[in-house]
Amino acid sequence: MSKILTVGEILVELVATTRGDGFREPQPLVGPFPSGAPAIFVDQVGKLGYEAAIIGRVGDDDFGHLNIARLTRDGVDISGIDVAPDEVTGCAFVRYREDGSRAFLFTMAQSATATLNLTPAATALMASCDHLHIMGTALSAPGMANVALEALRRIKARGGTLSFDPNIRPEILGAPGLRVRLLEVLDQTDIFMPSGDELFLFSERADEAGAIDDLLARGIREIVLKRGAEGASHFSVEGRHDIAALSVREVDPTGAGDSFGGTFVALRLAGVPPVAALRQANAAGALAVTRQGPMEGTSTQAALNAFLKDTFPEDAEIST
Ligand code: ATP
Ligand code: MG
Repeated sequence: MSKILTVGEILVELVATTRGDGFREPQPLVGPFPSGAPAIFVDQVGKLGYEAAIIGRVGDDDFGHLNIARLTRDGVDISGIDVAPDEVTGCAFVRYREDGSRAFLFTMAQSATATLNLTPAATALMASCDHLHIMGTALSAPGMANVALEALRRIKARGGTLSFDPNIRPEILGAPGLRVRLLEVLDQTDIFMPSGDELFLFSERADEAGAIDDLLARGIREIVLKRGAEGASHFSVEGRHDIAALSVREVDPTGAGDSFGGTFVALRLAGVPPVAALRQANAAGALAVTRQGPMEGTSTQAALNAFLKDTFPEDAEIST
């Protein structure tokens, strides 16, 4: 069975409990919640019962240990997490605006994650994993990007595969060198998982079908477009398949894309056909938004089966 590796930021998230634009006044917060897009992704893979590991760097502080404890509990190999004694774990402060969009304040670039470097433990993981998942955020800082691109070279050289979620927040789009690295990764992508307008990041075409054709022509085998509360679509040379979102009460949408991605990638690598994997991922994304905190809503396979049984009773259950 494949072991899935990801590289990148492990953060805590603190969420404002009132709506508004940013943090220029005192306000109540909840958290800290374990977070970081690659961490949420890998937690979801581990929770489903598949082999998964993360390469990252945290401070030797409560925020770092909160993450290590959660990932360990959920079955993730944490041997590649470097604990930096004199640095701090990165934070993401999130506040929802009245229109549902999110204002982020990140300390990622000034935290332990920004000085990620190639350790012997990280090198060992690159030799034992056959699939790499890259998030665009991990390409935004030179240290993380170097390690992610090294993992890509090593895993691809051994015949491994790559999934790529651009996960580009407007806050990081201007990071120096980011676009070149995004294109280097895109060129080697097997499964591309953009969200909304990220579909158009790498195409001159302004229409969805045109952008999909461009991406498939680059040699990408599968594209999964995440559409938030509008569901998701899967595209390959064999055609397209759309799925409506499942009806849930949205409490906190942050992390839905990562739970969706972890589920889709883990199940595809386990041999589950695209449409069934899409259905499971759609369920994981829906369950993720019902919980406050980005990693709080990751799902076990039993929870996904139970949720889908009510919606599609005719479908076979998936077992890990
Ligand atoms: P993030 O980067 O915040 O983790 P994202 O923007 O990458 O998220 P979304 O498109 O928001 O990803 O969500 C991923 C998937 O989760 C959607 O394609 C859908 O299947 C599911 N989902 C998201 N929001 C909802 C919702 N309100 N109701 C039901 N399902 C949802
Ligand atoms: Mg979203």
